[in-house]
Amino acid sequence: MKILRLILGDQLNARHTWFQQVDDEITYLLMELEAEASYVVHHIQKVLGFFVAMREFAQFLRQQGHQVIYLRLDDQENQHSLANIPVLIEKLGCEKFEYLLPDEYRLDQQLLILCRDLNVPCKAYDSEHFITQRQELKDLFAGKRYLMESFYRTIRKKHNLLMEGDKPYGGRWNFDSENRGKWDNRFTIPNALLFPQEVSDIYQMVQNMRIKTIGQVDPKRFGWPTNRDQALQLLDHFVSYALPFFGRFQDAMTIQSRTLFHSRLSFALNIKLLHPLEVVQRAMAAWQADPLRIGLAQIEGFIRQIIGWREYLRGVYWAEMPRYATLNFFNSQRPLPHFYWDSETQMHCMHYAIRQSLEDAYAHHIQRLMVTGNFAALAGIHPDEVDRWYLGIYIDAIQWVEITNTRGMSQFADGGLVGTKPYTASANYIAKMSDYCDFCYYDKSKRYGDRACPFNSLYWHFLDRHRALLQNNPRIGMAYRTWDRFNADEKTKILEQANFYLHIIESL
Ligand code: FAD
Ligand code: SF4
Repeated sequence: MKILRLILGDQLNARHTWFQQVDDEITYLLMELEAEASYVVHHIQKVLGFFVAMREFAQFLRQQGHQVIYLRLDDQENQHSLANIPVLIEKLGCEKFEYLLPDEYRLDQQLLILCRDLNVPCKAYDSEHFITQRQELKDLFAGKRYLMESFYRTIRKKHNLLMEGDKPYGGRWNFDSENRGKWDNRFTIPNALLFPQEVSDIYQMVQNMRIKTIGQVDPKRFGWPTNRDQALQLLDHFVSYALPFFGRFQDAMTIQSRTLFHSRLSFALNIKLLHPLEVVQRAMAAWQADPLRIGLAQIEGFIRQIIGWREYLRGVYWAEMPRYATLNFFNSQRPLPHFYWDSETQMHCMHYAIRQSLEDAYAHHIQRLMVTGNFAALAGIHPDEVDRWYLGIYIDAIQWVEITNTRGMSQFADGGLVGTKPYTASANYIAKMSDYCDFCYYDKSKRYGDRACPFNSLYWHFLDRHRALLQNNPRIGMAYRTWDRFNADEKTKILEQANFYLHIIESL
């Protein structure tokens, strides 16, 4: 029976059981689609990263002896959507269509509709990438409030990771309190491992096809890993040089390094060049081999991101979509200011994080959460606008992991499905965790008046305007108690300052 099998751009999993046997009756299909390259305005490095990795994967499959059809963006016969599929089924005389379960709700729906209309049988296979199943979180909590910590513990027990019997290794589940170090210049920050390759031909094709993109790239030196070998090298590099300090400086930010001790593995993970368990096991092996060099707080902090947050957010996505994409708990309506697109702002923290994102298609978690996300939440930017920006600008942005982080964790637009409180903060936090304020036009210590840091007045304005929604949240009670201690005059000055800044937001 002739079968057509679809592989999406984020399904480059060489170890999938599909590829264990070569079968001449099976043709694999990979497609560069205009629809995918432009459903939001993507960073140019993201478009290139996907296309280069897909081409390398097609090449890999051919080398293994598999039959592959690869539709390039500029192929004449490319219809630039799933409409390619019935055409190819007809042309090749296929009697069956098979696909791997997509991670995006949008594509899941499109494929279900396609299959309903095809005149051959269809079958969906698991992508064999995640540690948990789509429905696992929903089943686990069964109508109760989702909690990342209990999800994480369940997965750790189930996979016997960092466990001593049924107890957490070292007696604690969580070393969060030891993962809040400010960068103190005492250690050597590893260089980011790049894989410079020339991608000028694909870059030119994207330009010729007039795909609108943002951000910068040097097409002669594209640096992201685009095949499994490179992804494994990046994993080794991280484990050797960054893991020993990962947890400790996880929340730190500095102008001395754009990556600090972060792994830059998210792109390789999200397009499935690496499996999350193999990443965790590689890190655990290094810790076991040298527990003095890689402390427990470092390995636990790393594992929590992969088997905790990453799997947890995927579970929330499948439990809550499509309604999740419409949530706007605070009814925020303001458009995204221009500086998210061009980094032209006098707020140094914002300028730095956005310029870096435009140049690298990367910012680490705390830059995304406590700088750009924090500002958007404080300023009351519409979550649709915030989502579109995050979905476009980062090379690792795929909706299941982007929207839950953005609309959920960072904007609290889901009213607390993902997190227990909004991640909003004044300049205090940014000054504590970074050196950004030292180079800023604004004064981190002022709440109002000349050059007062916008994060300060906006923080109190945010709490004040959303009091009815937030004051009963036990995790914010302290902030309201502080606000209530300010005298009326002080409060008025702060709120007036915030209103002024919101009025001139495009000029901040
Ligand atoms: P590291 O800090 O080295 O962490 C190791 C790995 O853990 C990451 O590669 C990632 O796979 C996983 N991880 C860590 N934190 C998270 C998290 N919160 N959610 C899911 N996985 C996590 N991550 C994406 O992969 N795609 C996105 O589109 C995305 N959008 C985000 C938007 C916002 C507003 C925020 C606050 C976070 C977002 N994240 C996203 C999560 C996180 O910021 C990135 O995974 C991380 O910065 C990637 O860099 P890294 O590989 O160096 O991560
Ligand atoms: Fe950001 Fe305010 Fe610090 Fe400037 S002073 S870097 S705007 S937090």
